[in-house]
Amino acid sequence: MYQISEKEEKFLKSLAEAFGPPGFEIDPIKIVKEYLRDIADELKHDNLGSLAAFKKGGSEKPTILVAGHSDEVGFMVTEVTKDGYIRFHPLGGWFDQVLLAQRVVIKTKKGFVQGVIASKPPHILKPEERGKVVTIDQMFIDVGATSKKEVEELGVKIGDPIVPWSPFNISPTGKTFFGKAFDDRIGVFVAAEVLKTLKTKNIEHPNTLVSAATVQEEVGLRGASTIAWLVKPDVAIITEVDIAGDVPGIPPHKAPSKLGKGPTIVSYDSSMIPNQRFREFVIQVAEEAKIPYQLSIVPRGGTDGGRIHLFMEGRPCIVIGVPTRHIHSHVSIVHKDDLENAVKLIIEVIKRLDQETVKSFTSF
Ligand SMILES: [Zn+2]
Repeated sequence: MYQISEKEEKFLKSLAEAFGPPGFEIDPIKIVKEYLRDIADELKHDNLGSLAAFKKGGSEKPTILVAGHSDEVGFMVTEVTKDGYIRFHPLGGWFDQVLLAQRVVIKTKKGFVQGVIASKPPHILKPEERGKVVTIDQMFIDVGATSKKEVEELGVKIGDPIVPWSPFNISPTGKTFFGKAFDDRIGVFVAAEVLKTLKTKNIEHPNTLVSAATVQEEVGLRGASTIAWLVKPDVAIITEVDIAGDVPGIPPHKAPSKLGKGPTIVSYDSSMIPNQRFREFVIQVAEEAKIPYQLSIVPRGGTDGGRIHLFMEGRPCIVIGVPTRHIHSHVSIVHKDDLENAVKLIIEVIKRLDQETVKSFTSF
């Protein structure tokens, strides 16, 4: 029913490589807009810049919001030193140990400037210093300049946004994708593919679907508040990356999902306990449609659902995740089958979400 082929791979690549830390999502948003322009019935923005693509089905109500966030973790320039180095502040959560020796790109008024994250070289550290972890406040970005003037001439100034530089690639098996910004361009991709597939395959659905790309999730779920007011959903599905626990050293209860074993239905995260009837409904749909799925929990970390389920008097909401390795770093990995099955599962859910069903989630 749904398959990722060259066109979809190209879309994912362009999303992953687009420049878009929190507050600067204009490039990834433009890509989604272009992709859905001739497919959606209508495209709308909230005033922070989130995008909502509408598709009417057999009945106007209920309104279903399927949302992924378009921002990625990045940084901001805080100082250009007199010697021509750049100090920076994180936008979103970073693990200091993944930063050193990584390439980054700074967006300035004059264009993009490449740099590398560095610190004092180990050769000149005292033996006791060498054993210690280097923290982010001791790091700087080197753009290859020799003076403050030179850096300023490149266009770099305080407040300029920075993201990892990391090209997208596909493994030789064709089954796994490598790239930056998968958190959460993967979710943006899934939400857009759901709408595109319903339209191009002429699939009937008894509701209005709104596929959204939100902004500023990584700094506190900010676009989630404004998109909820724009769309006024009756029910919402958040499309996110889930932390794949199939790497050495993680016990299953910390991160139960594995790459290639299906999308996850998130049972708990630090920002939301999903509507239980809706969650059971999604599980039942996955069983009926014979789509592999995994039950998961995310003990730390929230999603846009944290805000959307609290919209007005409350809305049934669930997170459907794509298991992803190494999130919040320069290179994450996802499995093609999980992406395809996430799109299929959400389509099967949307086909069945009529007004009566959605109402039954909140009748007490
Ligand atoms: Zn995320």
